[in-house]
Amino acid sequence: AKWVYSFGDGAAEGRAGDKNLLGGKGANLAEMCSLGLPVPPGFTVTTEVCSYYYAHNQSYPPELKDQVLAALHRVGEITGRRFGDKDKLLLVSVRSGARASMPGMMDTVLNLGLNDETVEALAKDASDERFAWDSYRRFIQMYSNVVLDIDHEHFEEILEDSKARLGVELDTEIKAADWRKIVGLYKGRVEEELGSPFPQDPQEQLWGAIGAVFSSWMNQRAITYRRLHDIPESWGTAVNVQAMVFGNMGETSATGVAFTRNPSTGEKALYGEFLVNAQGEDVVAGIRTPQNITEEARIAAGSDQPSLEKVMPEAFGEFVRIAGVLEKHYRDMQDLEFTIERGKLWMLQTRSGKRTAKAALKTAVEMAGEGLITRDEAVARIDPASLDQLLHPTIDPKAERNVVAVGLPASPGAATGEIVFTSDEAEDLKKQGRKVVLVRVETSPEDIHGMHASEGILTTRGGMTSHAAVVARGMGKPCVSGAGSLRVDARAGTMMVMGQTFRKGDIITIDGSSGQVLKGAVPMLQPELSGDFAAIMEWADGIRRMKVRTNAETPADARMARSFGAEGIGLCRTEHMFFDEDRIVAMREMILSDTEDGRRKALTKLLPMQRADFGELFEIMAGLPVTIRLLDPPLHEFLPHTDEEIAEVATAMGVAPEKLRQRTEELHEFNPMLGHRGCRLAVSYPEIAEMQARAIFEAAVESAKKTGNPVVPEVMIPLVGLVKELDFVKASIDKVAKEVMAEAGTEITYLVGTMIELPRAALRAQKIAESAEFFSFGTNDLTQTTFGISRDDASSFLETYRQKGIIEQDPFVSIDVDGVGELVRIAAEKGRQTRSDIKLGICGEHGGDPASIRFCEEVGLDYVSCSPFRVPIARLAAAQAAV
Ligand code: PEP
Ligand code: MG
Repeated sequence: AKWVYSFGDGAAEGRAGDKNLLGGKGANLAEMCSLGLPVPPGFTVTTEVCSYYYAHNQSYPPELKDQVLAALHRVGEITGRRFGDKDKLLLVSVRSGARASMPGMMDTVLNLGLNDETVEALAKDASDERFAWDSYRRFIQMYSNVVLDIDHEHFEEILEDSKARLGVELDTEIKAADWRKIVGLYKGRVEEELGSPFPQDPQEQLWGAIGAVFSSWMNQRAITYRRLHDIPESWGTAVNVQAMVFGNMGETSATGVAFTRNPSTGEKALYGEFLVNAQGEDVVAGIRTPQNITEEARIAAGSDQPSLEKVMPEAFGEFVRIAGVLEKHYRDMQDLEFTIERGKLWMLQTRSGKRTAKAALKTAVEMAGEGLITRDEAVARIDPASLDQLLHPTIDPKAERNVVAVGLPASPGAATGEIVFTSDEAEDLKKQGRKVVLVRVETSPEDIHGMHASEGILTTRGGMTSHAAVVARGMGKPCVSGAGSLRVDARAGTMMVMGQTFRKGDIITIDGSSGQVLKGAVPMLQPELSGDFAAIMEWADGIRRMKVRTNAETPADARMARSFGAEGIGLCRTEHMFFDEDRIVAMREMILSDTEDGRRKALTKLLPMQRADFGELFEIMAGLPVTIRLLDPPLHEFLPHTDEEIAEVATAMGVAPEKLRQRTEELHEFNPMLGHRGCRLAVSYPEIAEMQARAIFEAAVESAKKTGNPVVPEVMIPLVGLVKELDFVKASIDKVAKEVMAEAGTEITYLVGTMIELPRAALRAQKIAESAEFFSFGTNDLTQTTFGISRDDASSFLETYRQKGIIEQDPFVSIDVDGVGELVRIAAEKGRQTRSDIKLGICGEHGGDPASIRFCEEVGLDYVSCSPFRVPIARLAAAQAAV
């Protein structure tokens, strides 16, 4: 078998397409060689060797040794050098290279092949003794650290001591003879730590480094990184061995990194940094301040350090040319590493550059404009989830940040406001036109109104799926959760951190994209939804097949969703309309009534309010479809629970606290999510559904009259399992529709459909479609009932499941294609068998998740519906799913 792939001298055995086998770095080195670019010759030991290594008790395939020797020999022939040669010495670098770049793994060993003898050869060859001994000490330190597992600190300590003794401050002031002494001390320390001398044999050094790369694949940091980024363990890493070129051979040598376009703004201009007389790690280490590559960037940065353009114009010109070749060839912005050795440019790496969402949009749109990529490709290149960064105000990158605490980046965007500690305070201040940030230990469903009233939410406890995080994301509000260093005392009205005390009314800023909590107000940048964003959205809209609707019940959310391009409402959760002050009273009255008559009386009070609500939504949606769901949650959710609250509400309502308590107890359920909710309410209390249907139809008649836009309401019945449930409720909806039409003297077109959110409904979809004119998949409940896990409580053990590899993703976030998805598939098919044109949509949280949207496209749903801030994400994801 072939385990080793060579490259160099204008040819290569691999290509860019071989990333799985050669890793990203190796594949691109091969490609650059084939393009005739100046790349130091070398070879790649494949990822298959890594797999073999772990499958065979950390040993190598028998043929590997010979193949490595042959490849090394070839490198020697190209360079005219040899390992261990006293004259023409070959030194190599050894680097890891997985398919995707992976921090946490062994990174680089430079100058491999140096020992007590060859260091002299290097000194002679380079005519620079200082350079040779400096290279050797770097090698000892790097090799000892990453291969022999000896801590950096040992070497730092020796170097600091030596500098103190020599009375110098900078490494650059150390002379050759002193480096030689330091090398002696380094070797001594290695021997102390290791119990044996620093390896002198270059072959031994080489195999040590190769082994260290493969071992690092399974170190804890790499494992953690893979888990966080869904990188399979089976991929393995490759090892790249390459002839050394030196950026530290004096003032005509340099090393640097660059992007072909600006990775933070996307602007089309070479962007990067370099250091004269330095090796790669010096740029990263931040000891010296790197210089700008172009004059333009230098001037823009106001730097007085000369640019590469100025100090090495020839190498610079060549680099600009190569950057252009690579960007054209890869048809994407490239991230480049290079070294200049005595005036000669060498390319060490190219890869697609990581970029901000803003830069991704700009480069994609501009590259389409330049004809480098097609519009479809431009759309495909944007990560839908990254759009979230763009839809919210963000902290001006130039702003000064006075960070007082850091929590989890739970919901993106930044917000500034006065601190409040309770939801009622939030609401009160909001009414006075003030901006507030709600600060809580954690939030609960009772805080919804306060969260709505706040600019952002900060909690000291809870993770990325805590109530605060989930609700804030749904609302599109910035949220920092779990900022554990803050001490919140809501009673005292204080928040303490790092010896500072903040009080109610003090201004803070939270950055939900970084998790930072900042003192005071900070300058913000407002979202820019025109320009590149609008262009990509328009192109995406031209590609996608599925419609994108929104889950919204308030006029503000509906308007916001429209501005983000929603094409209707896919789910109006009417229960959210009953919590406002004026309604909750009537609602409670209804729930407390012992008779149907009493309930109807209370419902009569709610009717005009609901009608106005729906009317407003119809007008905002201006003829687009609006799906209104009948009341879904169990009634106890509308009643008070604690003694205090019961007493308060009873007084306000003029009923005996006992009566209220009794009703609350009657309504108590052990499993409310599996309880008296959904269409079961409409079966028990048909008058509720009738009132809602009347409000819907009357509003439809009114807005059609008012705006001239015909309204086709879609009435949706939740939690249906039996077709007879649906028929029962549908009959009363149809009856009300007839009545309203007779009263108004006009026709109303409307649809009655159901949610598919119980496995039984999915399995019986053929029958259910006889009555339902549309299905909307409620994948939140469908996931809960298919798995038999609670959507409110499961996150605690689901995280453990993830860590132990039992599940890959939270099924409440991304649809479980195999199980829940199968039910969706079955229901869609069966529904179409009965009613070929049945309208199919999804309105669970999954409707805004790109991977789930891909699945929806596969099943052929007509639309997805998601919270307003996810609408652009869904538009883009739907387009990507369609190609
Ligand atoms: C669902 O169950 O997926 C759904 C959209 O309804 P809710 O989240 O309101 O139960
Ligand atoms: Mg549901």
